[in-house]
Amino acid sequence: MLRNDVGIFTEKGGTIAFLLSKQGIVVVDSQFPEQSNHLIAELKKKSEKPFKLLINTHHHGDHSSGNISFKGITQHVLAHANSKINQENAAKQNKTEDKQLYPSQTYTNTWCQKVGKEKICLHYFGAAHTNGDSLVHFEHANIVHMGDLLFNRRHPFVDRGAGANIRSWIQVLDRAGSTFDSKTLYVYGHSANGFDITGNADDLKKFGDYLGRLLQFAEQEIKAGKTKEEILKNTSLPGETEWKGDGFQRPLQAAYEELMA
Ligand SMILES: [Zn+2]
Ligand SMILES: [Zn+2]
Repeated sequence: MLRNDVGIFTEKGGTIAFLLSKQGIVVVDSQFPEQSNHLIAELKKKSEKPFKLLINTHHHGDHSSGNISFKGITQHVLAHANSKINQENAAKQNKTEDKQLYPSQTYTNTWCQKVGKEKICLHYFGAAHTNGDSLVHFEHANIVHMGDLLFNRRHPFVDRGAGANIRSWIQVLDRAGSTFDSKTLYVYGHSANGFDITGNADDLKKFGDYLGRLLQFAEQEIKAGKTKEEILKNTSLPGETEWKGDGFQRPLQAAYEELMA
């Protein structure tokens, strides 16, 4: 448990958050079917209330393929309208349509509802990791699930095929920083080994700075006349001390493609 009646669950995939209220259980993200089965069993030990709502921060399989475990259990499934479209497209492409439980409700800008003593608001601030990322705010607990809008000290996946945009992502992080306050506790989809899956506004600022320097670096390399192949030989962002480790090529390639588009 984090605070109030909000807790987190991690096993494999994007971090799950949940609310145990007298009016029912709310779950944010579902990892994979096996993980969601474990989660459901654990939550049933903690509460006899029904599963009221399952929210997906976005469509990626490590956040939504466990939805199917909630079939017939949850009253509603909620996500951003683009997240639903992305989930349908990905399932068609991967021929996994029979393994999906799609959102039964969608929204476009903001969605709020009281659940027991808690009030939950979903915000969409624009394209970022995909074009359908929700920030899920438990207002009384003052906890925000960021989904994959924040990779804590880990190079991010930038899903350009699903409408991701790095420049807009930086603005989304800025807007989160000005919407929520200094006491807000953030939950992250992923972190590097040894780093927390929760944190504060400072992490958002640092990740935004990293994305800004990533774009700047890609731009410099392009201006220096390097080819895509030459640019993608870089294995780290020069001068970066916190976002390190493997996987730098992925965001670098996305930055290159975004700048060349
Ligand atoms: Zn993820
Ligand atoms: Zn993702």
